[in-house]
Amino acid sequence: MSLVPFDDRDGQIWMNGEFIPWRETKVHLLTHSLHYGSAVFEGERAYGGTIFHSRKHSERLENSARILDYGLPFTVDEIEDAKAEVIARSGLGDAYVRAIAWRGAEKMGLSAQDNTIHLAIAAWAWGDYFEDKMAGIRLTMADWKRPSPETAPHDAKAAGLYMICTMSKHAAERAGYNDALMLDYRGQIAEATGANIFFRRDGALHTPTPDCFLNGLTRQTVISLAKARQIEVVERAIMPDELATFEECFITGSAAEITPVREIAGHTYKPAHMTATLMEDYSNLTRGKIPLPA
Ligand code: PMP
Repeated sequence: MSLVPFDDRDGQIWMNGEFIPWRETKVHLLTHSLHYGSAVFEGERAYGGTIFHSRKHSERLENSARILDYGLPFTVDEIEDAKAEVIARSGLGDAYVRAIAWRGAEKMGLSAQDNTIHLAIAAWAWGDYFEDKMAGIRLTMADWKRPSPETAPHDAKAAGLYMICTMSKHAAERAGYNDALMLDYRGQIAEATGANIFFRRDGALHTPTPDCFLNGLTRQTVISLAKARQIEVVERAIMPDELATFEECFITGSAAEITPVREIAGHTYKPAHMTATLMEDYSNLTRGKIPLPA
């Protein structure tokens, strides 16, 4: 991974409708969202100059903001145009795209009814999310649990929800793992810190029902790719005592794409045919070589 800090790079970032030199895209210290976690964001990837599922990401951004009780100052169409322009100006074919919206600095305190809403879009070259992606990653169990849907707005991709993800990921990395598997408030398997999870047993895929964590766009895509190959996909509650019974495991996300998992807290998996097939299908789909299955 590049060691160049993100605030000291060349290029331009789209911010509130204009392109601004990368190093000059500043926000004030007393920005509401910095204090109260109310930014919403998207992580997207462009392949060969086209952002995969771009409109779905923009729609989710708008929906995340709505859930957090604000409207974006740009329409989905305007965000689409801005993202396309960001990619075009970056000169990158394959890129990671970060769109983020936040409440400004007019008022501090919890109430922010009239604070201005800001939106920015940046893109940069970013390879695999995990350095040893192809070898398969190792997960440990997180201490933090995904909260109940009555406790956190799980359908919003909101900055504040990532607090326990960073804490869990740091603990995992310190213990020599790549990432952590988070259980939910009921003790069911939920997801990794920034990606959804799938398991294979016999010929079927099993994945937790996304009732208290993000139903990722990649997750939904992988389910349709699997179904197109007549693979049975079972969405259900999965308890950790089943970890010993699965044969393959992978995680999914716009950044992680499909990343094979070779261990979860002592249980080992062998990335095999099903993982490889879906990885290839996903790669072909993101590069426009096959159509999105119905
Ligand atoms: N869960 C969490 C917590 C995430 O941060 C992400 C990445 N956005 C996902 C799941 C996967 O979502 P997507 O496939 O839409 O990128």
